[in-house]
Amino acid sequence: MTFKKIVLASNNDGKLREFATLLKPLGIQLIPQSVLGISESNESSITFIENAITKARHASSASGLPALAEDSGLCVPILGGAPGIYSSRYAARAGYAKSDTANNHYLIEQLSSYANQNDRRAYYFCALVLIFHAQDSQPLIAEGRWEGEIITQPRGLNGFGYDPHFLIPSLQKTAAELNPEVKNTYSHRGHAVKHLLHKLNREA
Ligand code: IMP
Repeated sequence: MTFKKIVLASNNDGKLREFATLLKPLGIQLIPQSVLGISESNESSITFIENAITKARHASSASGLPALAEDSGLCVPILGGAPGIYSSRYAARAGYAKSDTANNHYLIEQLSSYANQNDRRAYYFCALVLIFHAQDSQPLIAEGRWEGEIITQPRGLNGFGYDPHFLIPSLQKTAAELNPEVKNTYSHRGHAVKHLLHKLNREA
């Protein structure tokens, strides 16, 4: 399977930066969908994978190119898996601003109301989808997961989203304290890309 260009179905600058590094081994041109004037698709499903497929199909259909899409989020078991698929709009759904800062404040506020203050387990999840054309019936699918804990005081300036509150216990650092290459080695997105590249190589 050969292709020279691929559209990236995301408008999230943090994700786009990470994908640019992670997908370098493919040696193909990655075009963010916004460069082609493609708007965000609706995320109306309740699973990461269905949302990722919808995004990929939307971008491929609008561009006529192969498309790579992902849907990801932070899942906190003590909050019943929230914010989950609603991670980017967690605070906005409660009437606050749609921003990383508001999401982080809202997350800490939600956690503070739980009696069990010891359970701070959380994980990031990423569902990644590559389709070769809009009607592709066999999307390549890969997933990745990254375990951590939520800390109340933010630390670090790298990354995006919930990273300043996402502590990796084995490193005693938050995701925002890791340099981008290190984050890519450990992260949900890094793992998903590794699995996807493996599948692609098998098909080649
Ligand atoms: P999506 O663009 O609908 O997939 O939403 C992804 C959201 O999940 C982001 O806006 C962040 O809130 C959160 N998220 C996903 N991956 C990461 C990450 O690597 N670091 C921090 N937050 C993340």
